[in-house]
Amino acid sequence: MEATIMEEKVIIFDTTLRDGEQSPGASMNSAEKMRLAIQLEKLGVDVMEAGFPVSSRGDFESVRMIAQKIRSVEIAALARTSKGDIDKAWGAIRDAARPRIHTFIATSDIHLEYKLKMTRDKVVKEAVDAVRYAKGFTDSVEFSTEDGTRTDRDFICRIFEAVIEAGATTVNLPDTVGYAIPEEYTELISYVRNHTPNIHKAIMSVHCHNDLGLATANTLAGIRAGARQAEVTVNGIGERAGNTSLEEVAMTLYTRAELMNLTTSVKADEIYPTSRLASMITGIVVQPNKAIVGANAFAHEAGIHQDGVLKNPMTYEIMKPETVGLASNRLVMGKHSGRHAFQKKLAELGYDLSKEDLNRLFEKFKELADKRKEILDEDIEVLVAEEILRVSDIYKLDYLNVVSGTVAVPTATVKLKIRDRVVQGAGFGVGPIDAAFNTIAKMAGSSSKLVRFSVNAISGGMDAQGEVTVRLKENGLVALGKGADPDIITASAKAFVNGLNHLEYMKKNPSLTPDQRDF
Ligand SMILES: [Zn+2]
Repeated sequence: MEATIMEEKVIIFDTTLRDGEQSPGASMNSAEKMRLAIQLEKLGVDVMEAGFPVSSRGDFESVRMIAQKIRSVEIAALARTSKGDIDKAWGAIRDAARPRIHTFIATSDIHLEYKLKMTRDKVVKEAVDAVRYAKGFTDSVEFSTEDGTRTDRDFICRIFEAVIEAGATTVNLPDTVGYAIPEEYTELISYVRNHTPNIHKAIMSVHCHNDLGLATANTLAGIRAGARQAEVTVNGIGERAGNTSLEEVAMTLYTRAELMNLTTSVKADEIYPTSRLASMITGIVVQPNKAIVGANAFAHEAGIHQDGVLKNPMTYEIMKPETVGLASNRLVMGKHSGRHAFQKKLAELGYDLSKEDLNRLFEKFKELADKRKEILDEDIEVLVAEEILRVSDIYKLDYLNVVSGTVAVPTATVKLKIRDRVVQGAGFGVGPIDAAFNTIAKMAGSSSKLVRFSVNAISGGMDAQGEVTVRLKENGLVALGKGADPDIITASAKAFVNGLNHLEYMKKNPSLTPDQRDF
């Protein structure tokens, strides 16, 4: 018997920490991943794919830490079909309250012929063996057909039937290459649901990529056809053009509830804070016109619209900014806020810090409050990121002084902490930022090239903190760096140092080659 659409729930499977981290340059250290995991739990996702443990030592450790700490969310780990991969996945999540092993194999003819060099029979056998093996560790086992949308549909039915028989509790049909069109995807999901005899014994899942800008549309199309798990990332980050955006799916289900008749556990008012945090930690800036979380998502420019909105917001607004947590996030602190209020604010943001960390952070908070009138949540998040999450960093900016002007040659004096050693240096550049970067690069002995540089304001107002994002490239590795400060030259130097730290982290934790982690 099959349930029909009566206020059913869509399981939100967040893969920001796994597929999202595969965005070029978006590597996160374990403390940063943990911080994001805590926020994802607060956001109310049902399943969190914490990583791909076999891909690197660093990733294994991060998944293990998250599995131990996050108790109310199911924690998934990705594995190819080999026993080695599954053992590693299990090793990382065995302490989770609810562990899930997610195993996958490519199923399209093009992948079978050129990548796997396997017959269909062999692929089915591999998949079944993997699911059985994973099932020996945990009851919750998910199976994915990589490149599912370019796979023969009857073959999907065949392999799904076999893995469900072997114990798979979720079967996922991904549009790995972002190739599908919504109607086609609806039709495919319906076909598979109607032609896989035991499909009712598993949850059907969708996982889409945004290469044609259709990831959200396809995900919703799959849900309309009966899929009840959506694999998504915060801000839609991910490989190439990205994954389906969590906030777009959640807010469509919420805003069009009368049509969709489906619910999620996502707490809408945590959407904006989560988006901000993910952007800050990964260094991937959200485009201003991004749906739901972009800076302009609720800004009305046309006079006729502004007039309407003033008379009644619902004339042009289908959602309220408060609903996604835009307004409630702006609890302001300032110069006169005491240590107790500061501690309370940190607790609200999900931080539980040692007394020593708290004292250090409070000092920095006071310094910042001297420079600006109001301190927003975003500013505090930045402080925590710089002072706490990045403490294991190799390079730390201790002191920066830049002299520039219309006649002087821009000169930077820098004190840099390299591990426990403090190094001092000075250098020139064509401008103040160039001088700072040259000097820091020389001191760190880095041959990295700056390939992108952008500045944003964290919040409105003349005294807003400038938030700088840099993209650094060295020997084929690309890393993003982010820094914030009321002074944009200091912010730039911090971003540059953060980028160097990310590069070091990537060098120490070499991942699988892209070809080994395609899904
Ligand atoms: Zn993917």
